Amino acid sequence: MKLPRPSGLTLLTAILLILLPALAVLQYRWVGQVSDAERERMQRNLRNAALQFREAFDVEVGRAVLSLQVGPVTARDGASEQYADRYEAWVDTSEHPRLVSDIFVVDAVGPDLRLRRFDPESHVFEPAAWPEAIARWRLDFDRQLRDFNAGHPVDRRFGLTDEESLVISPLRNLIGPGRPGARPASITQVFGFTILQLDVRYMRDEILPALARRYFIHQDGDNYRVAVVSTSDPSRVLYRSDPDAPTDPASADASQLFFGPRAGPRLFFGRGGGGVRLGGQAGPLDERRRGGGDVPPRDEDVGRWRLIVQHASGSLETAVASARRRNLAISFGVLLLLSVSVGLLAAASRRAHRLAEQQMEFVAGVTHELRTPVAVIRSAAENLSHGVVGSADRVKRYGTVIEAEARRLGEMIESVLHYAGLESGGGLGNTAPVSPLDIVTAAVDTAIAAAGAGGLTVQRDIPPDLPNVIGDAGALRSAVQNLLANAVKYGGPDRWVGVRAEHVHGRRPEICITVSDHGPGIPPADLPHIFEPFYRGSDAVAGQIHGNGLGLSLVKRIAEAHGGRVAVSSKPNAGTTFTLTLPVAPPQSRPSPVASGASVAAHS
Ligand code: ADP
Repeated sequence: MKLPRPSGLTLLTAILLILLPALAVLQYRWVGQVSDAERERMQRNLRNAALQFREAFDVEVGRAVLSLQVGPVTARDGASEQYADRYEAWVDTSEHPRLVSDIFVVDAVGPDLRLRRFDPESHVFEPAAWPEAIARWRLDFDRQLRDFNAGHPVDRRFGLTDEESLVISPLRNLIGPGRPGARPASITQVFGFTILQLDVRYMRDEILPALARRYFIHQDGDNYRVAVVSTSDPSRVLYRSDPDAPTDPASADASQLFFGPRAGPRLFFGRGGGGVRLGGQAGPLDERRRGGGDVPPRDEDVGRWRLIVQHASGSLETAVASARRRNLAISFGVLLLLSVSVGLLAAASRRAHRLAEQQMEFVAGVTHELRTPVAVIRSAAENLSHGVVGSADRVKRYGTVIEAEARRLGEMIESVLHYAGLESGGGLGNTAPVSPLDIVTAAVDTAIAAAGAGGLTVQRDIPPDLPNVIGDAGALRSAVQNLLANAVKYGGPDRWVGVRAEHVHGRRPEICITVSDHGPGIPPADLPHIFEPFYRGSDAVAGQIHGNGLGLSLVKRIAEAHGGRVAVSSKPNAGTTFTLTLPVAPPQSRPSPVASGASVAAHS
């Protein structure tokens, strides 16, 4: 009997197997797009972080410059309440009051320059000797003074250049639109400059590390290496977050100038060039310069220091590539899992379908097997009861027939019940040491009795001194009996059966019981399936040989329940040999007798 194939599931499997490669291609493309978007996102974030870094630094310096800038009254008198208040307010509110180490004022007494230093205790600008760092610019101050006295505007870019520790700004009254050649628009005409002496070491040790941590070094997420170098002398490294942090903008993911004019609107600054550069490309200022125009540089294109940032993995590109590889691995892993699941599902459905088919065949076979003896018994009984059978001799023959059919019926029922018992986890009965000789002898006796008048040649080779095995004697006898019954059923016309038992001294000692016949053998196509429940060989089906396909599956289950196994070797037209292997019982085990009518009488 055939079951309809589960065509819906097969179709679904086929569709899934076609869809999977398409899905893989789409996923590959999609991961590529995600990586591109990720690269853009990282570049944007990095650029923003670099700008924020510059902003935070310049605002800090710019606040100091604006707050501490000296006005003409303070410069003239050497002190003012207003300036003292401004100074105190800045000290109280600044995040980094140690940023400024000294405040000086340079102004003129007649044709001479005068330098005074702010005393934070008395709040008075006291005359001071010219420190080395400021003395270097004295000639420039002199020139500025001469120009001022000659009525020229103060040159706000008189080349104080890249001096890192000084921020010099004109006195507040000199603020004006500063058209070249025009006088400043302020009312009071007082010459002078405020000079802030910055603490470069403090900036290097405190401010730069704090800003780098805030904008680039994150515990989770993207992590960067940060370096700060001098713009005019890139070999001068001011800060490195990591010994591997690059100092060359060409190998950086982003570079940004800072400590520039934004640090204060009237701050003198150096000749730093460059600008925001990503991936070592030319900055906007470079382009403008190449363009030859005299466009003033943007704030972000100038600065005394250069920030250089590189992704911790070596470069942003490497980080994106490794994220891409990871995404690809995950998504293809999922696809692979999906394909394996589809494959397993298909295999499971095919197996389930085959099992269902076999069960249907089994039901049909069992029904047929049951119906035949029942029909024979019924008609024989009817004949007897209707008095159709006259002679005592015929009554005896009827009795023999009824007995044989009843036995077949009983064996069939036992076999099915036994299978159901093992199948539902019923396991073995009582286990005890059993003699292999006893098992084989009992099984052979039953086989000979079952063979009846047809006769049977049994060739035995069973040494009497075999060690015991431990197990359920009835089940073991039933297993050997099944093998013998098959040898008789499928062994061909000469009705010859060979039974051997031997002690094998392998890694663990075992008893091998082999049952052979001279039959036509098992077709190779059937061989892998004969131990499956309900499986019947093609020859058995074609030859209409009685059976239900349970015998060998019972043998296999019984062998495995005893820690043993069963194997088959069969060649076309060269007979078949089944080998039942059982572990030897440990020494000092006493044998239990094997009753010939033992509990289980499985027979296929
Ligand atoms: P059944 O004998 O009831 O069909 P079994 O499980 O005992 O079921 O055997 C399964 C199949 O194995 C048989 O249908 C038959 O095709 C094949 N088979 C078993 N023993 C032999 C043998 N000795 N020679 C040839 N074929 C055999």
